[in-house]
Formats: sequence, C-alpha cells, structure tokens
Amino acid sequence: MATSALGNTQTSGSTDPTVARRARDRAQEDLQGLNRRLFGARVEVDDDGEETWTQEHRCGSCGVPLGERVAIGRGTSRDGTQRGLFRGVETCGSANVCLRCASKIRAAKAEHSGLVLRAHREAGGHAVLVTLTFSHSIDDQADEVIDDALKAWSGFNSGRFKTIKNRWGIVDFIRVIETTHSWVNGLHPHHHVALLTDRPIGQDPDDPHELLDFQADLYQAWSAALETLGREAHYEIGVDVEPVRDEEGVGSYISKIELELTRGDLKRGRGESRSMWQVGLDAADGCQRSAAVWADYVRAIRARRWISTSEGLWERFGINDRTDDEIAEDTGDEFEEVALIDSDVYRAALKADGPVLTEVRHLVEANAPVVVLALVLSRRLKRQVEIDFRAEDDGVPTLRWSDKVGAMAGSRSSTDSGGKEVLE
Ligand SMILES: [Zn+2]
Repeated sequence: MATSALGNTQTSGSTDPTVARRARDRAQEDLQGLNRRLFGARVEVDDDGEETWTQEHRCGSCGVPLGERVAIGRGTSRDGTQRGLFRGVETCGSANVCLRCASKIRAAKAEHSGLVLRAHREAGGHAVLVTLTFSHSIDDQADEVIDDALKAWSGFNSGRFKTIKNRWGIVDFIRVIETTHSWVNGLHPHHHVALLTDRPIGQDPDDPHELLDFQADLYQAWSAALETLGREAHYEIGVDVEPVRDEEGVGSYISKIELELTRGDLKRGRGESRSMWQVGLDAADGCQRSAAVWADYVRAIRARRWISTSEGLWERFGINDRTDDEIAEDTGDEFEEVALIDSDVYRAALKADGPVLTEVRHLVEANAPVVVLALVLSRRLKRQVEIDFRAEDDGVPTLRWSDKVGAMAGSRSSTDSGGKEVLE
C-alpha cells in the first residue's frame, strides 16, 4: 500500500527525503515556538501577590517539559527510518494548529483513509473527490468564516445531500476542512470530501453530461445550505468534482486522496494564497501581519473537528480509530534512550534563537555521542552544559547546567572526581 504520505509535503525544493523531513522537523519547532509565544501559559500576580496561571490555547504548551527531565533517544518511524525523539514533553494533540501533532495525526488518518478506499475499491466500489467552497471577503472575521464553513457542511450533510446520496449511490464519505489565506480575500476555509459510491460517476462515454449533472445536484444542495447562512457559492467553482478514472492504479489513486484529503499541510495554495501552515511559518519568521492572521485563525478554529466521516465508517472497515490525542501522544514502542536533559536546560533550548532542539534530535538520529550533544547545547545556549553520569541509576547520562564557571567553548572533555564529565 501507499506508504506514509509524509514524503509528499513540500518544505524545500529538495527531493531528498531526509532533507525534506529535516526541514519539516525544523518547521515543527518554529511553529511550536510561535504558538508558545502567542498562547503559552501566562502568570498574573494580584495585589496580594497571589499568582494566577492562564493559558488561552493548549497549543501554547506543546513540547514543554512535563517533569524534571526530558529524555532524548532514538525511535523508528513508520517508514522505517531512525528518528531522534524527545519523551517527557507535553503533547497538545491539535490537528489544526500544531504542526508537530498534526503531522502525526494526519499521517495516521491518511493511512486509515487509504485502507478504507482500498477496501472499498476491492469490493467493487468507486470514489469521487469533491471540493466545497463559498464566497467570502477580506472583511470577514476569522471566527465567522470558519463557523459558517462548518455550519454549511452540517446543513449540507443533513439536508438535500441525503437525496443526492440515494440518486448517485453514495455510500460513505470522508471529509476534512482545510483553510488557506490570501491578502485579497482573507481566510478561505473549504471542505475536501471523498465520496465513496457503489457505481462509477462521470465515466460513461455514452453520457458525457453525467458528471455535470452530478455537480449540479451537489451545487444545489451546497447552495441551499449556504443560503441559510447568508452565504453563496460561485456556480463554476463552488463545487469542484474530480472524476477518478477506473484505469488509474489503486495505489496512486489512494495516495492522491491522502495527499488531497489529509496532507494539504505545507504546500502553497494556488496563486497568491498560502496554506495556514505557511502563514504560521511566515509568522514564525517574523512577519507581523501573518502573526495577526495566524492568531485570529487559531482562536477561530481551536478544537474544531477537522475530519468527519459517514457514521461508523472506521468501525465498518475494521479500523481502530484512535482519538487525535491518542495518536499525538503515541511515541511508538521502540525508544532507545540516549540521554536525559535537565528541564532547565531544555527550557533554555526552547527559548533559544533558532531550532536548537531540532539540531539535537538530528544529532541523536545520526548517532552522535552524548559529549557532542553537550557541546552543541553549550554553544547554542551560551552556557556550559555538563554530563552527569550519577543522576540516574540506570547509567543514562543527564545533561545539565555546569556549576563550574569558565570557558565553555572548548572541545576537550575530562572527568572530575565526582564522576561528572565536564566540557571545558
Ligand atoms: Zn502539539
């Protein structure tokens, strides 16, 4: 079957999967940093000195240490490659606004969608890919336009769509919401829907109008749902139907659906529009206007459901459908612990300029010795980090601030009488 659709993302011009993956790792840390700055926990102290901690959105704490130490080690990802991983950090589980969590959640859902589509095809079924959009403007508030997109889908699904299902033999659907942004028209939320049918649509050479009839039916139902919200859809582009030809290989068909349905992530939208991930990354790179758009978007989309299916779809296809949180928190069975990082050092790395933790992950991935991790952390954080072998009974070294005052940029390592290997 199609392997993880992760390789389909475009984070750089390179076709080298390792380079693309590392660019994505870096993007994840950049976006996490942005979310922490915008939505991280804040403390307020009242006149009596009483502290109150507040946090606007949980994405602001993704990647923050849970306890005294964070473990760094190696695990194996789905595609069999060795990965540098942290354990002992918070996971926000947001498929909408956290790239780290979304990458895992969406890859899992892409795999599930692929399994469903393959089984459906093998049982003689067919499928059509539909995009539903509506008109909006730069003056629309983020929460209004996102709200309307979700309400419109609900109205569509519980309205005339039911009749259409019977008429066209639609047996199941998988729907995801995706949002792009342009400075001309603002936020552009839209739905990608895979319709699973019991018959081919638009593939009969004797009936060239079948696909147009189908599109017109969908358009009427979509328009009716929008009308109740005071919205409308453009007749030509409001409903886009992509025919899937029988002669297409099942594998490429599925991977295409996966890409369209669940990996809109890092690709730039057509023309001037950007994916919301790109908006976030532009904001992380210092674009203030993009940061304002991103913050409004996060507040509007929050914990909204990004994917939905016809009732009981996953169960009927024998798929153990885990929640987004469960998928995001799953760090895999394999974990070869390399070192522990004291949470003070880890927090300093979180705040540092540049993706220090991604660099550490990639060093671990490349089997770099712990002494190199200490050296890199010392240099990047401009404070000496030592390796403490005594901290844990099982012999896993801990990287922590050194008490020693002195030069930290040296490369010679030595062991003092207390069993600490100190970089001097
Ligand atoms: Zn997260």
